Amino acid sequence: MAAGGYGTEGLNGDAAPKETQGAPSSPYVRKQPAGRGLDASRSAPPRRRPAEGLGIYIHFPFCLHKCAYCDFNSEVADDDLRALYLRTLKAELSRDGPTLHRRTEDISQAAKARVTSIYLGGGTPTVYESRELTEILALVRDIFALDEDAEISCEANPGTVTEASLRELHQAGVNRISIGAQSFNDAELALLGRIHTASEAAQAIQAARAAGFANLSIDLMRALPEQSLAQWEHTLDKALELAPDHLSCYGLSIEPGTPLARQVERGELVPLDDYGAAEMFIFTHEKLTAAGYEHYEISNFAHPGKRCHHNLLYWRNKSYLGFGAGAWSYVDRERFRNIAGPEAYCRMVLEEGELTAESECLEPQAALGEAVMLGLRLAEGVDLAKLGAGFGLDWRQLYDDAVDKAMATSLLEADGERLRPTLRGMLLNNELAALFIYSR
Ligand code: SF4
Repeated sequence: MAAGGYGTEGLNGDAAPKETQGAPSSPYVRKQPAGRGLDASRSAPPRRRPAEGLGIYIHFPFCLHKCAYCDFNSEVADDDLRALYLRTLKAELSRDGPTLHRRTEDISQAAKARVTSIYLGGGTPTVYESRELTEILALVRDIFALDEDAEISCEANPGTVTEASLRELHQAGVNRISIGAQSFNDAELALLGRIHTASEAAQAIQAARAAGFANLSIDLMRALPEQSLAQWEHTLDKALELAPDHLSCYGLSIEPGTPLARQVERGELVPLDDYGAAEMFIFTHEKLTAAGYEHYEISNFAHPGKRCHHNLLYWRNKSYLGFGAGAWSYVDRERFRNIAGPEAYCRMVLEEGELTAESECLEPQAALGEAVMLGLRLAEGVDLAKLGAGFGLDWRQLYDDAVDKAMATSLLEADGERLRPTLRGMLLNNELAALFIYSR
C-alpha cells in the first residue's frame, strides 16, 4: 500500500507507538487545568485537501426483486431504464464528472487527487453485465488518478452472478468482492425476501474464489425476528466453512414502510428483543475473534490486512466522491448528494446538467462531531486532540464531560493518545454517541 493509503495497519491504526502509550500518560485520564492543552482554536481552521487519497463510490440502484426489509435506494427496473441509467452514469463520469462536481475549488482538486479505492455498490451492481461494469471502471480510470494498488470492490448478490461473470469482473481489475448472502438458512432467506437459497449463496461464494478473488467478503444479517442463537450460530458456521477474508454482520433494523415492518405491525412476526440482539452481538464477537478475525468496526470483521479500505475511509472521515442516483460525496467539510430517484437523476443529468439534491458545508464543530461519531465505530477509536486540531478546535472545550462519562460507564477506554470504544461501547454505540451529541 502506498503511503497515505488506508487499511493495512493493525488494530492500533495510526496510533502512537506502544512505548509512548499507556493510561498514565493519557490526556483522557489525567486532566489538565482549564486553558491548557491544544489551543488551535485561536488559529484559522486549516484547509484540508484530499491529497492523502480519495474514494470513489458508484451507485447502481437496481435489483431483480425488492427484499422485504429493504429501504435502500434501490428498485426493480425494466431494461430500458437500466440502459438509460448506465448511459447517464457514463455522462456524469466522462463528460461531466469533474464538471458536475466542481461545486468548489476544493472539489475540482479532488478530481485530480489520488484515488485509493473504488466501490461499486447498490442496489445490485451485478444486475448489469460484467462488460458494462468494466466500461464504467474504464471511465473512472480515464478521469481519475488511480493508485496502482487501489482497492476496487464490487457488491454482488447470489442469483445475479456466475463464475464466468465474476471472472470477467476480476479480469477488469475488481480485486474485492462482497457477496450478500445474509443467511445460510432457507426459511430466513424466504422471510427476508431474498432471491436465492442458502446453497445458491454458497455456490456464488465458491464461484468467486474459483474466478480468482483473493479478497472476499460475506454480508450476513443477525437479530432477525424470532431468530434463535442456534440459528445464527448455524449461519456463522456455514460462513466460516467458506473461509471469507471479511465478514459484515449487520443487525436487522426493521424500517417503517417495508413489508417486514407491516408483518410486525399485523402481529405476524415478533422482532427480537434487545437482550436477544445483544446476546447475538457478543456471541458474534467471541466466535469470529476466536476464528482469527479482527473485530475492527461495530459490524465488521476481517483477517489481518483484509479490512475494507473504502469503508475505513468513511469511518475515518476522509474524502470521497459519489456518482449515480442518491450518491453522497464529502470533501473538505462539504457534503452533497445526487438526486435519488433513478429516472429524475437521468433526466437532470442528461437534460439539465445539474444533479445535486442537497448540499451542506459543515461548520468545524459539526464536522468534528461527525468525525468523532464515525471514528468511535472503529476499534482503533480516535485521537481526539489530533482530530480536533484538524478542524482548528480544542476537544476539551467540547467533549471533556462526554469523555469522562463514557469512561466512567466503560463505554470508552484510553490507550495513549487514542480513545477506543470497549466491546460494551460498540454494543451500546447509540448511547455512546448520545453522550457526545448532548455535550455539544
Ligand atoms: S438486494 Fe440489497 S439493495 Fe436490493 S432489494 Fe435486497 S436489500 Fe435492497
